Amino acid sequence: MGGSYDVIVVGAGIIGLSCGYYLTKQGQRVVVLESGGFADGASGACDDMILFQSKKPGINLELAFESLELYRSLVGDLDDPLGFENYGGMVLIENQRELEVMEEFVSQQKSYGLDVEILSKAEMRKKQPFLDERFIASTYSPMDSQAYPFAVMHRFARKGREMGMQIVHHAPVIGIERDGSGIFSVTTTQKLIYKAPVIVNAGGAWAGKIASLVGEYVPMEPRRGQIVITEKVPSIGDTNLWSARYLVSKLKTGMEIESTEEERRLGLGFAFTRTEGDSYLIGSTREYVGFDKRTTMEGIRAIINQATSFIPVLKDVNFIRAIAGLRPATPDGKMILGEHAALSGFFTAAGHEGDGISLAPITGKLLAQMVCDGSVQPRLEELSPNRFSQDRTEVS
Ligand SMILES: Cc1cc2nc3c(=O)[nH]c(=O)nc-3n(C[C@H](O)[C@H](O)[C@H](O)COP(=O)(O)OP(=O)(O)OC[C@H]3O[C@@H](n4cnc5c(N)ncnc54)[C@H](O)[C@@H]3O)c2cc1C
Repeated sequence: MGGSYDVIVVGAGIIGLSCGYYLTKQGQRVVVLESGGFADGASGACDDMILFQSKKPGINLELAFESLELYRSLVGDLDDPLGFENYGGMVLIENQRELEVMEEFVSQQKSYGLDVEILSKAEMRKKQPFLDERFIASTYSPMDSQAYPFAVMHRFARKGREMGMQIVHHAPVIGIERDGSGIFSVTTTQKLIYKAPVIVNAGGAWAGKIASLVGEYVPMEPRRGQIVITEKVPSIGDTNLWSARYLVSKLKTGMEIESTEEERRLGLGFAFTRTEGDSYLIGSTREYVGFDKRTTMEGIRAIINQATSFIPVLKDVNFIRAIAGLRPATPDGKMILGEHAALSGFFTAAGHEGDGISLAPITGKLLAQMVCDGSVQPRLEELSPNRFSQDRTEVS
């Protein structure tokens, strides 16, 4: 194929497809180049949560509110329910110290506009009668929602194509050059050349490698997550679930979390979400193991042991699949969104770590505004790729 376009998007995960969809909607001629097949990256191996309760007040929470509204409107625009559900979520609390941290966190989130509260043990058990007795309380937010990532990607792709967007699978980008007139030439392994004045690097965990093809610096580390999937089962409780333990450690409270060496190595957290197919996704690990996206016996065993001890009825349920994906992690836990100061026309939209499903629609919409209007909202400066230029100087 090859050819000339207004924008080349590299990577057809949920972020690349969202960017492609919104750019095409704004009248841009877009090609999306993907090294693998459909949903080959993290977006095809993840949970489905549009999750609020994990987010500190700040830009991520603010954008999650906006993304939820976009999801609601996309259900109509894309003619598809997208597996969009609004079961709400609870964060399970095991001890007094976790409770204190979560009370403080919940009050911060409430003052930022999140509908969230602490439930007593009795209130918690009303919504979740199958929980182990160890949990002393929980949070509850009716806002936590979910969307089926495959359906979202499929619809962005189909609707984008109907408007003229091209998607080329099995087209790994291996070279990017820019000529004196500012036109990029992108080469794939098939030796085909695609040209455009704008490139969007939506390579997820691989975004650093893609940026390095043009000498740009994007600090991105793959963070593996493993998930186990159950057979179809009747509903177990009213909401989706997480444990406070991992969240509390992430909030950097200085609080010592009792954990085994294996739990630390695996970065084991607990997430329990019901799918539209009536199975449960149970996760997950957060491991730094390079680009290795295999599942492991150790990971699967740890996830199942934890799940069956938290929800004992799961001992009677069949676990039918395990998957692993590479979350794209940045050093400061915020996505990278914007144009590179040293290379005009080169944008990065990556680094959503555990929030890419939540933030996909708003990322695509904001990226398309940046490209088409040539302006950046001041609040988005903290997401700019240029915030890392100092680190690059120190590294080199
Ligand atoms: C276990 C697990 C659970 C998760 N749960 C949630 C959740 O509940 N809610 C949530 O919001 N997020 C969740 N996430 C995070 C979410 O999956 C990611 O943030 C999101 O999928 C990232 O999307 P992406 O498009 O940036 O990356 P990817 O989906 O990885 O897409 C990047 C694409 O770029 C392609 N690519 C790479 N290099 C090249 C190249 N040289 N040329 C062409 N193409 C290239 C790759 O093949 C890949 O398809 C979870 C992740 C995991 C692993």
